[in-house]
Amino acid sequence: MAARYLEPRLERSSRAEMTRLQTRRFKEQLRHAYAHSPFYCRKLKAAGVTPAAIRTLDDLRKLPFTTKDELKENQAVKPPWGDVLAVPFADVLRVHMTSATTGRPLAFLDTREDWHGFYHSYARSLYAYGVRRPDVVMAAFSYGPWIGYWSGFYAAQDLGCLVFPVGGLTTDQRIDALLSYPITVLGCTPSYALFLAEAAGKKGIDLAKQGKVRITWHTGEPGASIPATKARIEAAFGAKAFDLPGLTEIAAWGFECDARAGLTHVHEDYCYPEILDEQDRPVGPGGRGELVFTSLYRKAMPLIRYRTRDIVHVADRKCPCGRTLIALEGGVLARLDDMKKIRGVIVYPRRIEELVRPHAGVDEFQIVFRRHEGLDDVLIRIDPSPSLSGAERDGLRARLVEDLRTGLGIRVTVEIGEPGSLPRWDHKAKRVKDERTEVPF
Ligand SMILES: [Zn+2]
Repeated sequence: MAARYLEPRLERSSRAEMTRLQTRRFKEQLRHAYAHSPFYCRKLKAAGVTPAAIRTLDDLRKLPFTTKDELKENQAVKPPWGDVLAVPFADVLRVHMTSATTGRPLAFLDTREDWHGFYHSYARSLYAYGVRRPDVVMAAFSYGPWIGYWSGFYAAQDLGCLVFPVGGLTTDQRIDALLSYPITVLGCTPSYALFLAEAAGKKGIDLAKQGKVRITWHTGEPGASIPATKARIEAAFGAKAFDLPGLTEIAAWGFECDARAGLTHVHEDYCYPEILDEQDRPVGPGGRGELVFTSLYRKAMPLIRYRTRDIVHVADRKCPCGRTLIALEGGVLARLDDMKKIRGVIVYPRRIEELVRPHAGVDEFQIVFRRHEGLDDVLIRIDPSPSLSGAERDGLRARLVEDLRTGLGIRVTVEIGEPGSLPRWDHKAKRVKDERTEVPF
């Protein structure tokens, strides 16, 4: 039984025990933030709350939210770190940056213990996928300032795995390493996994047959929680693929387990989740809403009620694995920041990926939101598999138009280009372009 869980006591704790632990950690975080973070001291005073008034987890709702814009503005006004920091500067050990689409990214600082908390909860996820000490792990990322795979690297090391560093290597060198060394676990973005397999295929290499990878895990994008994308990665590597949703500012907060029941567990002893509807009221099992996290472990930047802008669905079923941690259906379902409105209909890029990926003839795709003949339009550009004939490309286009129309509820334009004409991605993919200059009412 214990072999399935890294920390069975926490992963299978009763609700009463978990609530006790969360309450104790939350009160400690709040006292710490109020006493040592100028940002939170101001914020709590402005809201008229003191830590003494907060006794239970329900009292958390008396506290104001924290947003990413607020943190970015704080760092812009008080460069370079802002004044959220609640420990002496000499105590910080790591800095990571969020990946920003606009403006300067947010810089996030951690103490030694904060950093341990981040990668240790991540290690618990890797263990839940089935990663064990004898595994050899390749974390294929650029070794830049993003936290996702640095923490994965340390997490694998935390489990005692041999970690094979490939940061500065080219894709060809990484393929060579996968063939030459007994690498059994691969971590990278879903887009990069598909790119790596495609690059190997061009050299006549089938990584599913010639490599030894048995587990892949993916973060940075929701791909591994989209069934068709996950199935492609699994076929390309002959491995089981797992999704790991995370947030630089909070934690590598979730994981799918080896029961593969379509549920994402949350490390709720590290970060307390609230799922709130549009009026900021908590939703129960079966409900959908925005995920809001309060950090229960980070001391350098102890975020309180941080709005993730991620939409999730609270599960109303138990996972067969036996974990009692709160579970979400299918990971992050939508990001509020990615939402687009087309002719009155709300469209999320993730939904488009769900509809496009099941088509075997699609190697890569791009989504362009544009104004076409005075109307909003979605153009889906397809990079087809080189093996398709002209007639097969026409058939693919017709099927995509139909599936997208049914799935999105609006008609979209599909263009089939030449094989290899669209960009490939080694970090987070940028498949979405919005060319509209005027915002329609
Ligand atoms: Zn489970």
